[in-house]
Amino acid sequence: MAEGLLAGKRGVITGVANERSIAWGCAKRCAEEGATLAFSYLGEAQEKRLAKLTADMDGALRVPCDVTRDEEIEAFFDSVKSAWGQVDFLVHSVAYADRNDLMGRFVDTSRGNFHMTLDISAYSLVALARAAEPLFPGQGGSIVAMTFYGAEKVVPHYNVMGVAKATLEASARYLAVDMGAKGVRVNCISAGPVKTLAASAIPSFRRMLAVNERNAPMGRNIVADDVAGASLYLLSDLSSAVTGEVLHVDSGYNILGGFELPELA
Ligand code: NAD
Repeated sequence: MAEGLLAGKRGVITGVANERSIAWGCAKRCAEEGATLAFSYLGEAQEKRLAKLTADMDGALRVPCDVTRDEEIEAFFDSVKSAWGQVDFLVHSVAYADRNDLMGRFVDTSRGNFHMTLDISAYSLVALARAAEPLFPGQGGSIVAMTFYGAEKVVPHYNVMGVAKATLEASARYLAVDMGAKGVRVNCISAGPVKTLAASAIPSFRRMLAVNERNAPMGRNIVADDVAGASLYLLSDLSSAVTGEVLHVDSGYNILGGFELPELA
C-alpha cells in the first residue's frame, strides 16, 4: 500500500515535454507521495521521452491528447475511465503562442493567432475540466493550472500569452464556482520564470530571469521543484477548503511595486 499525502489517489498530468517541464516536477512529487498518474502527450517524440521518464513509475498511463481536439480529449478520458473508473486530480500545464507574437507589439497580434493562443492555453482548461468532471469521485477532487504574472501586469514580450493567462485565471474562478458544490477545487499556480522549452520561445527570457533574481525578495529564481511542492499542497487534502485562488510561487516577485529592490536599501 502506497504511503504519502496522495496515497491511493489517481491524477492526470498534462504538459510533460521533457525532464525540464514544470509538469514533470509536479508529476515526480505526486508519485513520491503515492499517486498513480496518467500522462497526456503530444506527438511521437514526446511519447518516447515520456516512456523513458515514466519507466519506473508503477501503473503510469500514457495517452495522446492534443487539447485543441475535443475528440482527443474525449478519447483520453475514456482511456482513463476504463483503466481507473475515476480521477482525483488534474494538472493543466499546457500553453502555446506563435513565437512571432512574442517578438513585436501586442497590438499586431492577428485574429487567428489570438484565437489559437487562447484556445490552447486557456480554453483547454475548460474542456479538460468538463471531461474530467464525471470522473471525480463523490468526495471531490482538485484541478491546478499553471499561470504567470504576465496575466496581472504587462511583462515585456509576454503579449498575447498574458491575455491567455488572464483568461486562464478567470476561467479557473468560474470553474471553481461551477464545481464547488461537488467538492472539486480549481486553483492556479503563478510560477516565476523557469528555463523550459516553452520559456525558450520568449525573447529576452534570460533578462527576465536576471531581473527576477535581482529583485525578488528571496533573491533567487525558482525551480520546478518549488512549483511541485505548491502543487502537492493544492492537489492534496492539505488545501481542502482552498479554491479559486492564484498561488504565487515566485520568490515573492509579485508583491513589489515599481522599483528595483536595491533602491530600498
Ligand atoms: P514546457 O514546454 O515543458 O510545457 C508546455 C507543454 O504544453 C508541452 O508539453 C507542450 O507539448 C504542451 N502543449 C502545447 N500545445 C499543446 C496542445 N495543443 N495539446 C497538448 N499539449 C500542448 O514548458 P513549461 O514552462 O513547463 O510550461 C508549462 C506551463 O507552465 C505552461 O502553462 C506555461 O505557460 C506555465 N508557466 C511557465 C513558466 C516558465 O517560466 N517556464 C512560468 C509560469 C507559468
